[in-house]
Amino acid sequence: MREIQMVDLKTQYKNIRSEIDDAISSVINSTAFIRGPEVKLFEQELQNYLKVKHVISCANGTDALQISLMAAGLNPGDEVITSDFTFIATVEVLALLGFKPVLIDPDPGSFNVTPGNIRKAITTKTKAIVPVHLFGQCADMDGILKLAREYNLLVIEDAAQATGTDFYFPDGKSRKAGTIGNAGTTSFFPSKNLGCFGDGGAVYTNDDELAGKIRSIANHGMKERYHYYNVGINSRLDTLQAAILRVKLRHLDRYNEARRSVADFYDRAFAGCPEIIVPERKAYSSHIFHQYTVRIANGKRDDLKKYLDGKGIPSMIYYPGPLHMQEAYRYLGYGSSDLPVTTSLCRKVLSLPLHTEMDKEQLEYITVNVLEFFERKV
Ligand SMILES: *Cc1c(COP(=O)(O)O)cnc(C)c1O
Repeated sequence: MREIQMVDLKTQYKNIRSEIDDAISSVINSTAFIRGPEVKLFEQELQNYLKVKHVISCANGTDALQISLMAAGLNPGDEVITSDFTFIATVEVLALLGFKPVLIDPDPGSFNVTPGNIRKAITTKTKAIVPVHLFGQCADMDGILKLAREYNLLVIEDAAQATGTDFYFPDGKSRKAGTIGNAGTTSFFPSKNLGCFGDGGAVYTNDDELAGKIRSIANHGMKERYHYYNVGINSRLDTLQAAILRVKLRHLDRYNEARRSVADFYDRAFAGCPEIIVPERKAYSSHIFHQYTVRIANGKRDDLKKYLDGKGIPSMIYYPGPLHMQEAYRYLGYGSSDLPVTTSLCRKVLSLPLHTEMDKEQLEYITVNVLEFFERKV
């Protein structure tokens, strides 16, 4: 059996090696390493895939969040509502820009923020919501957009884990994650569903004016050369990464489908095991399983993780500690009994190996061992 990994980028690369190597050598031969033609081409191809008017590429997913929040016209002290159960980047950029992160609990079944919890956190100072489409499934964007309209709030979606996820509106229309709010952001970190061979990110928007501002901020605040309209930053996607992403975008739907079949296999295997709560799938969203994250109901999560380690099966805890209790964010004034859903999730969640190159032998080995831990023979 091939070694089991959380993500197997090596096998994935081997399976598309000639396409990737051709793309890389063509950039090297052109030496157009910065702002080469592949960057624009990739942006256009991603626009077509996502059916969004503007894709503005940048250096990473954290920059994408920062740039879109810089462009949003918020003022220091404005409150921005986001999840306590996410990767730190989402909260960090709010703090960096002098906004007040208002952290809320997610829904324990889908791990995503809910309109109900957002509504409870809205004050007269609230200016924006940053929903995170965690682990590959959309938050309830229909409910979130309704709240945003009611309270005149901006919505910036963190879609770093949801490149290709579809959100289904009640009227039957669908939109891709990240293209629903005022702007959406993503990351092309290698392990993301659409990952490059280094760092990369992008902002999406259908708003022409916002797009212009975002593009300018990502490029030192410049519009015409050496004329500066905004205080900007320097955040670019390399041509090499864009060329790699053009190849990988062509495989994205197939990759997301492969991930979904792994999740289906796990769901079926764990169906009769009450100690394992499988990820909830919402009717309003597809799920591209950036992670397959279960909750271990009997308090044995850490023992299971150790047991699996001993069997050569890696697993990860996303995320091990609630953000409201991190040292750097003490100043926000949260206490240990605030945000109990996140605190409880951090003790229960376990993400199992899931990637585009998993085979049946590996999946059987993993599920047999997980079930054996709970002494349930398959
Ligand atoms: C990966 C990720 C980011 C940050 O992306 P980088 O490219 O690593 O900066 C932001 N938010 C979420 C939810 C992520 O998963």
